[in-house]
Amino acid sequence: GLSTRLQETFRKLRGKGKLTEEDVNLAMREVRLALLEADVNYKVVKDFVARVKERAVGQEVLKSLTPGQQVVKIVYEELTQLMGGDQTKLNLAAKPPTVVMMVGLQGTGKTTTCAKLARSLLAQGRRPLLVAADIYRPAAIKQLQVLGEKCNCPVFSMGQENPVNIARAALEYARSNGRDIVILDTAGRLHINEELMNELKDLKSSLNPHEILLVVDAMTGQDAVNVASSFNEQLGLTGVVLTKLDGDTRGGAALSVKAVAGCPIKFAGVGEKLEDLEPFYPNRMASRILGMGDVQSLVEKAQASIDEKKARELGKKIRQQEFTLEDFLDQIQQVRSMGPLEDLLAMIPGFGNLKQLKGFKTADIDEKEISRIEAIIKSMTPEERLNPTMLNSSRKKRIAKGSGTRVQDVNRLLKHFEESQKLMRQFSDKGGKKKGKGLRL
Ligand code: GDP
Ligand code: MG
Repeated sequence: GLSTRLQETFRKLRGKGKLTEEDVNLAMREVRLALLEADVNYKVVKDFVARVKERAVGQEVLKSLTPGQQVVKIVYEELTQLMGGDQTKLNLAAKPPTVVMMVGLQGTGKTTTCAKLARSLLAQGRRPLLVAADIYRPAAIKQLQVLGEKCNCPVFSMGQENPVNIARAALEYARSNGRDIVILDTAGRLHINEELMNELKDLKSSLNPHEILLVVDAMTGQDAVNVASSFNEQLGLTGVVLTKLDGDTRGGAALSVKAVAGCPIKFAGVGEKLEDLEPFYPNRMASRILGMGDVQSLVEKAQASIDEKKARELGKKIRQQEFTLEDFLDQIQQVRSMGPLEDLLAMIPGFGNLKQLKGFKTADIDEKEISRIEAIIKSMTPEERLNPTMLNSSRKKRIAKGSGTRVQDVNRLLKHFEESQKLMRQFSDKGGKKKGKGLRL
């Protein structure tokens, strides 16, 4: 995939001392191919590579002490910018109710996303109202009712009535019942057509929604991006929800939507369950693509399911670059108690790389691997954990013996830990964001 290819390219770069312009050109050629293969729009790729190259062959990079890492940092920053830079939040009305219109083609995940959004708003203490305005299939109304029941959100429906009438009545209902966010599940079609657009335009002009969110399926790659362009031109969008990012997507849609269609991705759907909706953070997506792990997401997940104070301390340590083997072990143990391993593992800095080295796929990462790491760290003295540089070969032998592993395993773990530390040092400052640098095509 994209991550693997980019990581391979940058591993080669980082391994070098001084870089020549030729090295950079070669790496950029590979980045270009990797992005095209990931189904990123070709014009986006062309501009992206040109920007990175311009910055990368600049004096400060080639003459710096760690030119390879500088190039990775530039790619990370430019990927983040490409996806819109800062996270874009839901636009709430000054005077409730806020009206959110969910639009999109059939099967992209509109109805599911409406319920996911309601669930997350409820968790934030808001009082959403789901509205069934997809009138063409009775099953669609039923589906929303079932989902509403699941997340404890009231659902407003009026059968096959005209959507504009339904929406108006729903708004009235929300006002008189203290519901502060009205989420409208609209009808889709298999393809964009005039009938669909007219229906949505009618709804828009009679409701003046604060948000018009287009739901697109990440698995459809460039099609999703084209649909987003078209909807934005004809209807005007405030944001995109990219669903099915959990599937086998090549990443092209996430990388092209902002640059091509001009509107930000606000949320990402990462599974079929109601809790599988995340705010979309361009910087996190960029670090995932580059295989740097997603420190921030991990800290957040940890916060949700474990001792909050502990998680805060961990986040602070990571930011202050005091992340030790102790913390690393702690993290692994916490992750273990958090359930679904695969998605969490990918978030531990450097873990992605470790898996790659061993030729593991995400799905194959098993308890055994974790137990081994755990055993090694546990066989160290507290002093050794805090200061792994003191591990000479006799100490390593002792640790390997104590943990039932080999010295190579100990070395690999240390190397990988060192690498995560390095990466964190480099990327822990999330500053340096430049305003107004998004691509305009
Ligand atoms: P709609 O026709 O646009 O309303 O789409 P639905 O909400 O009915 O969703 C269509 C299918 O996509 C359903 O089977 C959903 O469970 C599934 N789906 C929606 N969002 C996601 C997602 O983020 N990940 C995965 N894997 N499936 C999703
Ligand atoms: Mg639907």
